[in-house]
Amino acid sequence: MEKKERKQEVKDDDNNGKNIENLVIIGGGPAGLTAAIYAGRAGLNPVVIHGPQPGGQIINTNDLENFPGFPEGISGGDFGSRLLEQAEKFQVKMDFDIVEEVNFQEQPYTIKTSLDTYRAEAVIIAAGAQPRPLGLKGEKELTGEGVSYCATCDGALYRDKNVAVVGGGNVALEEADFLTRFARKVYLVHRREEFRADELVRQKIESNPGVECLCHNQVVELISTNGKLSGLKIEETRTGEVTELNDISALFVAVGYEPNTSIFQGQLELDKAGYIKTGNFQRTSVEGVFAAGDVQDSRYQQVITAAASGARSAMEADRYLQQKRVNGRKIEEVQPIK
Ligand code: NAP
Repeated sequence: MEKKERKQEVKDDDNNGKNIENLVIIGGGPAGLTAAIYAGRAGLNPVVIHGPQPGGQIINTNDLENFPGFPEGISGGDFGSRLLEQAEKFQVKMDFDIVEEVNFQEQPYTIKTSLDTYRAEAVIIAAGAQPRPLGLKGEKELTGEGVSYCATCDGALYRDKNVAVVGGGNVALEEADFLTRFARKVYLVHRREEFRADELVRQKIESNPGVECLCHNQVVELISTNGKLSGLKIEETRTGEVTELNDISALFVAVGYEPNTSIFQGQLELDKAGYIKTGNFQRTSVEGVFAAGDVQDSRYQQVITAAASGARSAMEADRYLQQKRVNGRKIEEVQPIK
């Protein structure tokens, strides 16, 4: 009953003929869609703006093996579709557009997409992160021409070819293992001896004869022929010796992620690495703006932790909106992070 009244209140609060939304969620990955499920069930009628990759990065994962409740594992694509289907059950408005600009300086907050402008009393940012490039000359130009950041998406293009993966974390090792389904040979180039990846993932690589590990090596140059990647120059990190790896059709870069926060610069406090700073309760430096998932998490970056922070942010947004309406515009208890 109380929730219906809250919704009605928003409908009456018209702004230039446009409703002010209770809650806009920026990002449609596990964090954003979990927030949407919670907020939808709380009667907030949230809007999710999905961004450039609906479903988030998880859709690039071949096998999601560590999300509780799926003992047989689930593909990232299926997981993303199921999350979307679940959120749609709870009166969540979906907008498959990209946010270009935000203004969190005054209430209601403004969120501009390429086609629309939203005004919202509360916002949850769950914009995720994107793969970090190596920063090599020609990397941008060769992206899609042999350089890739997603083995699940592009691996099948390199059937019976030699390919390389760079990185030593879970993503690099899982991608190297996955690529042996198609490639003739997979070189795993890693700058140190020890891998960061989990023990189980390391074991998979050690027992896979299709992967040759080139530890203590880093890629220093991309070689191309007719606009396509054809080889790599790699440097032995201890001796500095540079050698050429020829006949390489693809390089899969898996050296971590960067948060998608460029549009929030100057609006919210970010840390040195560009992640949104969140204090307790998923709060950002602006009251009524919350953040969840990889956009504010440089440490865990797991689907389950993203989903959990999405749930928390929705519960906090609901609480914030309730207090705002009970107390008028003055909120004593809910303060932004310091
Ligand atoms: P990560 O764990 O941060 O590993 C990045 C790797 O790239 C490291 O081995 C690092 O080397 C290397 N690296 C970084 N910059 C480099 C550069 N400029 N040149 C060469 N190598 C470079 O990143 P990730 O593998 O993308 O994983 C990201 C997060 O997602 C992690 O928290 C991971 O646990 C999580 N994840 C989890 C699962 C799972 O199933 N549990 C699956 C996928 C991802 P150093 O080791 O020398 O620093």
